[in-house]
Amino acid sequence: MKRVLVSGGAGFIGSHLCMRLINENHRVICLDNFFTGNKENVAHLLDNKLFELVQHDITKPYHADVDEIYNLACPASPIHYQHDPIQTAKTSVIGAINMLELAAKVDAKMLQASTSEVYGDPLVHPQSESYWGNVNPIGYRSCYDEGKRCAETLCMDYHRQAKVRVKIIRIFNTYGPRMLANDGRVVTNFVVQALKHENITIYGNGKQTRSFQYIDDLIEGMVRVMDTEDEFTGPVNIGNPHEFTMLELADKIISLTGSSSQIVFKTLPFDDPKQRRPDITLAQQKLGWQPTVELEEGLMRMIEYFKNNLK
Ligand code: NAD
Ligand code: UDP
Repeated sequence: MKRVLVSGGAGFIGSHLCMRLINENHRVICLDNFFTGNKENVAHLLDNKLFELVQHDITKPYHADVDEIYNLACPASPIHYQHDPIQTAKTSVIGAINMLELAAKVDAKMLQASTSEVYGDPLVHPQSESYWGNVNPIGYRSCYDEGKRCAETLCMDYHRQAKVRVKIIRIFNTYGPRMLANDGRVVTNFVVQALKHENITIYGNGKQTRSFQYIDDLIEGMVRVMDTEDEFTGPVNIGNPHEFTMLELADKIISLTGSSSQIVFKTLPFDDPKQRRPDITLAQQKLGWQPTVELEEGLMRMIEYFKNNLK
């Protein structure tokens, strides 16, 4: 049995990870300030003796005797991370320092949830880990992109200087049950709009691309990365390499829901990346991992969840 700390554990990805770790009989401390997460996401775990939920902001230090830390705390949706950009940057940078300090103190391994956003609006396609990215340092997305880039830097500096065992994963767009209906991300927006027969809002001309990964595939990848040998730090891309335009995504969701929604076009946000697709060769070779849930199947599960949870 391992003692595991999951920061951001009451959020979308964190709640799935906590459940997976509890199912494997590990002891889990879930740290969250409930900015975008909530107790309901982990309600099914609250009675479990292995599970502890602690309200805490990771910009403040925290101590617990643990073997592993998954550092997930940080809002991930553009509308949420741009709501209070200073807090987002603090969460990414000071939060990472606090989690790395803890890892150094108790000799824990730490996995950092980084993001495909470190590639910015990429000039290399698909993106492999060796690409350094094309990021605007002063734009609306920078609090998140640059915050996450700095967190990667800190991981590697704590690794080299303080010998902390770190693992950096670069997560590509992930979707699934327990995303917030109003989180503004494209898959939730389209599914909710389609189920309500409202207009589907495409930003820009809809020809920009993303590659969507189902939550279960990500969780499997995360656990495998944590279990790699100490010398392996990453970064490693975890994502689904099948790439779609937003127009294709909208058409798929309209047809899977049988919706009467119409597509409408809205202004493209600043610095919106034009294309994104992971090169997952490293994950395949190192972890023997690749996604198993294709977009249509994952969308059906997501649609079922929102049918039951949209009131
Ligand atoms: P989420 O918003 O659902 O979860 C983030 C959680 O962190 C929430 O529960 C929130 O309350 C908590 N949190 C935020 N600031 C905090 C703070 N200062 N102290 C303590 N808790 C705090 O987002 P998610 O989609 O579950 O993302 C989890 C992690 O994965 C994030 O670090 C995100 O950057 C990364 N990520 C997600 C995606 C994706 O597609 N979902 C893609 C790339 C990277
Ligand atoms: N998007 C869209 N309609 C929406 C929400 C988002 O067309 O209602 C677009 C957005 O401009 C971006 C893509 O979908 O090009 C993915 O957006 P999301 O916020 O989900 O993720 P990110 O941009 O962070 O990859």
